[in-house]
Amino acid sequence: MKTLVLSFITFYSAFVVAEQPVLSFSFITTSHANPTAEAFLVKGGRMWHKRALIQGAVLVQYDDTLFLYDAGLGQDIDEQFEGNSWLDKKIFAHSEVKPVIQQLSRQKLSAADISFIVPSHLHWDHASGLPDFDATPIWVQEHELSAARRGQRPSFLPSTLVNDLNWQTINLNSGPLFGFDRSLDIFGDGKVVLVELPGHTAGQLGLYLEVSVNERYFFVGDASWTSEGIRENKKRSWLIRKMVKLNDDEHQSDETLLKLNELSINDPELIIVPVHDERLIATLPQYPEGIKWKSEL
Ligand SMILES: [Zn+2]
Repeated sequence: MKTLVLSFITFYSAFVVAEQPVLSFSFITTSHANPTAEAFLVKGGRMWHKRALIQGAVLVQYDDTLFLYDAGLGQDIDEQFEGNSWLDKKIFAHSEVKPVIQQLSRQKLSAADISFIVPSHLHWDHASGLPDFDATPIWVQEHELSAARRGQRPSFLPSTLVNDLNWQTINLNSGPLFGFDRSLDIFGDGKVVLVELPGHTAGQLGLYLEVSVNERYFFVGDASWTSEGIRENKKRSWLIRKMVKLNDDEHQSDETLLKLNELSINDPELIIVPVHDERLIATLPQYPEGIKWKSEL
C-alpha cells in the first residue's frame, strides 16, 4: 500500500510538474538616456546623483511562444527624430542604440520568431522599434492607438504609428487585478497578465509575470520612471512636468501611482519594475540570459 501511495505521489508530482509552462524572460537594453540629475526624474530625488535611464524591451518566453513587451529604440531612430525640435532632441538624447531586431539576430532569431508585441504604451521610446517588425502582430487597445495618432511630437512619432504595421486590437476582459479595473490573462492560467495602468497614456499596459510562486514581477511601463517613485509615491519632478507634457491625464496618473505604491506595501515580495529604472533592471536577467533556449530544454 505504501509503495502504491508513493508511486501515486510520484506520478502526481510528475503530472503537476509537466503541467507547468516554461516561463522566463530577459531584458533587452536598446539604449540609455543621457545621465540626468535624479531630482529631475522624481520628486525628492537627489540633485547631484546622476541617473542614466534605460530604454529597452522585455523578451518573454511562455513554452514555445516568444513575445515582446515594448520594442525599445529601433533601427530608424535617427530618422524618426529628425522632425523633433532642437530642445526635444537634447532632452531626449540617447546613446549606443542597439535595436531589438539586431540583438535577436545574434541568437539566430528573426521577427518571425516573435509571436506578438505588446507595447506598454505608444510613446517614442517604447514604439520606435515597432517598424522593425512590420508583419508581427502588435497588440494594442483601440483607445491607446487612436490617442497616440492624435498625439504630437516629441512624445509620439508618426512613423511608428502607420497603418502598414500589423495592429491587433485587444480587449482587456479578464476582470480586475491588483486594484486596477481591467486585465487580460493572456494564456488563461494567471501567469502572464496585461493590466491597464491609465494616466501616463490613455491605455498604458503593465505586464504581470508569475515565473514561480516565489518569483513574481510586475512591469509597469512609465507609471513611474524609478522604483523610488513607486515606493514613496513620488511623481516626476515639477520641472520636467512643466517642460514636457508627459502624462495624458495627471489625475489618473496620480491614482495609478498611488495604487502601485499601496501594492508595493501590501505585497512586498512582488517585484514592481518601472521599465526605465536602470538600477533595478541591472538585477534582472539580461539578454540573452534568462530565456531557456531550445538546446537547454
Ligand atoms: Zn518611456
